[in-house]
Amino acid sequence: MKISGILQPAAGDGKMKVMRYLLIFSVIANFFLLIFLIPSLRIKLRFIAMNSLGFPAPGSIPQFKNDILLTEYNPVPVLKTEDARKTRMPSMDVIETHGHIGGSFSGSPSEISKAMTELKIKKFINLSFTTGDDFKKLKSQFNDPRIIHFSTFNWKRIKESKDFVPAMLNDLKQDIANGTKGIKLWKNFGLNIRKENGERLTLDDALLEPLFLECEKAKLVISIHTADPPAFFGKADEKNERYEELLRHPEWSFNTSEFPKFEEVTKERERLFKKYPRITFVSLHFAEFSHDLEQAAKLLDSNKNVYLDIAARIDELGRQPYKTKEFLAKYQDRVFFGTDGPPDRGKFEIYSRFLETNDEYFDYFPLHKPRKGFWKIYGLGLKKEILEKIYFKNAEKVFR
Ligand SMILES: [Zn+2]
Repeated sequence: MKISGILQPAAGDGKMKVMRYLLIFSVIANFFLLIFLIPSLRIKLRFIAMNSLGFPAPGSIPQFKNDILLTEYNPVPVLKTEDARKTRMPSMDVIETHGHIGGSFSGSPSEISKAMTELKIKKFINLSFTTGDDFKKLKSQFNDPRIIHFSTFNWKRIKESKDFVPAMLNDLKQDIANGTKGIKLWKNFGLNIRKENGERLTLDDALLEPLFLECEKAKLVISIHTADPPAFFGKADEKNERYEELLRHPEWSFNTSEFPKFEEVTKERERLFKKYPRITFVSLHFAEFSHDLEQAAKLLDSNKNVYLDIAARIDELGRQPYKTKEFLAKYQDRVFFGTDGPPDRGKFEIYSRFLETNDEYFDYFPLHKPRKGFWKIYGLGLKKEILEKIYFKNAEKVFR
């Protein structure tokens, strides 16, 4: 029977044949694998093949730099662009509403004061992560009257007792007595601060009411950073615009089951804003809606107590300049200038170029700061009245 003959070949002869086919197959497979793995070889073979088919090509094989890592890829545009400004700084004095100083990363008090003068920063809101004695120390260390210090909630108390809110409230009262002007809440609130039973502490958790009511009573502004760009909540795969950045900072990925979804936290935040209409909230980093200005508009329309800052989000805003310009015209009383960090000339140059000029296709980050996605931004060319509001007038009203 023929079929069984194939399936069960006579020992010896048939077996040798199969072995030979396997060997030929493995040689061919390895050959293609080698070509696939060595780009220079792949390019060479492709070049020879195309050449032999008659496609015009230079005489010698062009040289390619091989194996460029995605993190190294940094193309220089051939587009002729220029900085249209006479001066590279903001055209007026500014209020930095999203500053960070203190600790080892920002510079000494005298360096900070000098930089503030040079960069024409008339007020600097320091969104500090300190509370208690650390806050007191920070405040006395950086005592330039232009600096307004914010403290934070003392989350460490959660580990000390089941009933942690009274202790946190005491700390808050102490910070108020020590002169805090506002509260900075970081993204860990909402993402991974957990109660002792392991449950995530939601932004609108009723437990925290005494703290927020105290803030309301003391008229503290709350600057709150909630979630992060949605790309950090998505899969880190070939479709993720921030893939290269996530490679460098895997700790920024929230795409695991321990973290809530982006929408979940932003909804909690909305409930928090509604729950305390008499508290002024600054929803930092453009409320993480810089990629979706309709959402940002909805948030501002339905919460009159909420403001936005542009800190570290000009990358998104600047790649949709028409829409952003329209947005800032409509919500010109609700947006602050902020750059997220100590006074930084490089950032001031870029932020002012973004706000003030019609320049096209430039980097949204200074050389000493990393990029976030492979794109460039466009200037908004805002008119003076709007610039004044964003640079300082809105902040003057809110951070009195
Ligand atoms: Zn910040």
